[in-house]
Amino acid sequence: MDIIKSFMLEDGLFKGAFISADKTVSDIWNKHDYPADLRPLFQEAVLVALALSAGIKYQGVFSLQIKGNGPVSLLYVDVTTDKKVRGYMAFDEKSDFKDKKTLTDLFGKGQLIFSVAGLGQEPYQGVVALNHPTLVDTVKDYFRLSEQIDTELILRQHKDQGRIILIQRMPDKTGVSKEEIADLWETVTVLLNSVQNKELFSNLTVDEILFRLFHANKLQVFEPKEPCFECRCYRGKMENFLKKMSIAERGNLYNDRGEIDVSCQFCGEKYTFTRKDFND
Ligand SMILES: [Zn+2]
Repeated sequence: MDIIKSFMLEDGLFKGAFISADKTVSDIWNKHDYPADLRPLFQEAVLVALALSAGIKYQGVFSLQIKGNGPVSLLYVDVTTDKKVRGYMAFDEKSDFKDKKTLTDLFGKGQLIFSVAGLGQEPYQGVVALNHPTLVDTVKDYFRLSEQIDTELILRQHKDQGRIILIQRMPDKTGVSKEEIADLWETVTVLLNSVQNKELFSNLTVDEILFRLFHANKLQVFEPKEPCFECRCYRGKMENFLKKMSIAERGNLYNDRGEIDVSCQFCGEKYTFTRKDFND
């Protein structure tokens, strides 16, 4: 089962999240016809988006975008408050991705952008340059430089399966010295990095894995959430988009049958409009 399991360590000094989302990733992936060599990147982006969105409270949509001038120009994933996930990529169809593994190979010069948007939600955006081979290292860099929040995350992939565990230091609590917090942080990050793939990709439950890792660190686990793929496109949204165009702009979109076909980039759903829809 796909799961987002939030937890706390050391009386709330650190918060964390464990995510397993194999079905969600497959469901999104299967909506597209992308080269198999790009699947690990896509899976990594979905898991990172779920991990980061698990760590914040928001009403609306959390999005993660990687943009660049390389053979992959865009990777976009978004996650709603109730953990509906979707995503898509834009890339050069003529490129061969077999030997392109690092973020720089794939995106060239670029940026990672997180944002949160929604009703009654303070808009938030974070940006960091792509200076590391992996998305995970880029995310760590972002938190270190921009937010000054100690963040450790591990991401492991095994075939079409992926697991991510994130831990972050919470704002310092009173009554605990900085040295003590630093020692505890070192302990939990060493423990986190000790996790074995044979544990992560076994029949152990998430609770069992977390207990094995952190049973000596005042582990508290919360009710799990279940992510899933769901697109939020609907006909009216596409219609409004087309209505906002000028008659001339829209005129260029009609095909030989006098129809405009619009496909959703996230889920491939096709919407067909005729001249009657716009009184053109
Ligand atoms: Zn859609």
